Amino acid sequence: MSESAMFPTYARYPITLVKGKGSRLWDDQGKQYLDFMSGLAVTNLGHVPETVKQAIVKQLDELWHMSNLFSNPNQEKAAKLLTDNSCADAVFFCNSGAEANEAAIKLARRYHQKVRGENRFEIITFTQSFHGRTLATLTATGQDKVKEGFLPLPEGFVHVPLHDLDALRAAVTERTAAVMLELVQAEGGVIPVDPAFLKEVRAFCDQNGLLLIIDEIQTGMGRTGKLFSFQHYDVEPDIFTLAKGLGSGFPVGAMLAKQPFVAAFSAGSHGSTFGGTPIAMAAVAATVETIVNDNVPAKAAEASEYLFAELRRSLTDIPGVLDIRGKGLLVGILCDAPTADAIAELHKRGLLVVSAGPDVIRLLPNLLVTREEIDEAVALIAAVLTERAAAKQI
Ligand SMILES: *Cc1c(COP(=O)(O)O)cnc(C)c1O
Repeated sequence: MSESAMFPTYARYPITLVKGKGSRLWDDQGKQYLDFMSGLAVTNLGHVPETVKQAIVKQLDELWHMSNLFSNPNQEKAAKLLTDNSCADAVFFCNSGAEANEAAIKLARRYHQKVRGENRFEIITFTQSFHGRTLATLTATGQDKVKEGFLPLPEGFVHVPLHDLDALRAAVTERTAAVMLELVQAEGGVIPVDPAFLKEVRAFCDQNGLLLIIDEIQTGMGRTGKLFSFQHYDVEPDIFTLAKGLGSGFPVGAMLAKQPFVAAFSAGSHGSTFGGTPIAMAAVAATVETIVNDNVPAKAAEASEYLFAELRRSLTDIPGVLDIRGKGLLVGILCDAPTADAIAELHKRGLLVVSAGPDVIRLLPNLLVTREEIDEAVALIAAVLTERAAAKQI
């Protein structure tokens, strides 16, 4: 390949994708792939979903941009759809997941400092978590690899081990503002949070006047079998964040909060030039409407049951496969050794999957994936992992 004019921030796969429809992708050689990564949990409705495409095309003919200094009916509509279908009462739109988490961190700080008049600013997050790449969100992230070379990091973030309530208790001081977590640590290796722990964290936050922020950027928009992953549990966050699947591939993020926290932001306290632009909002409204009206989360839950059953049936006896874990259609296959070679081989055979840390193969099919597609994917994964186990024994 000729020298690239871009920063080498990604170790890219040697595949150039040029077209997608539903669960299928095609490269520039015309080779077809079955997509079990969905652009990292983004194309939850499959590639180029018709309802979202039509909404975007319609808006393209009307108005692209006019600034958040004007009212924006598309934004009102998208926000109403999100609040009608969740515990939230207000939405701030931005352009990415990191920005959504930045907004959540800012809202939590400002609520304590402006509404309650307390100098609280520290956010407690968990080891192995991932919350983004801006300076604040990479500091919030509980993995050292994203922080190397970026010192000094901003103040105000503390990490404790997941599922360790004593460590959480010990980490709280008079400066603590909030606890932030994903309900399935996705980038960290597809690690589901124990429901009992989540309940204890919620109760602990209530007892100590702390906000609970749930990062739904990867788990939201139907991915786990409910519109938002916290809806599986009898727990509501004070603030939650969305991006990835929110616009079906159109870049957009959102920070949502319940009523008591809405007044912590006033005119001028936060903003974004592009946040909630008419085209993005057309994509969000059509995405949410499609997910809700077509019962997409329930379909994802059904597909998930089948996928887990087939994976367990086909992989459990393969040496080197340690665990199959996750929730809904966010699935991790934990192996006893690095999986990069197996992932590369699956790509060669036409199945696109992605890692989640060195030893986990992550599956993120779209939420409308069929049983036939699941059969096809599981057969390929079983074949590659079996061959790999056999090669190791020689
Ligand atoms: C992807 C992701 C982010 C960051 O989103 P960007 O759009 O890449 O900024 C934050 N949190 C979680 C849980 C994610 O999966």
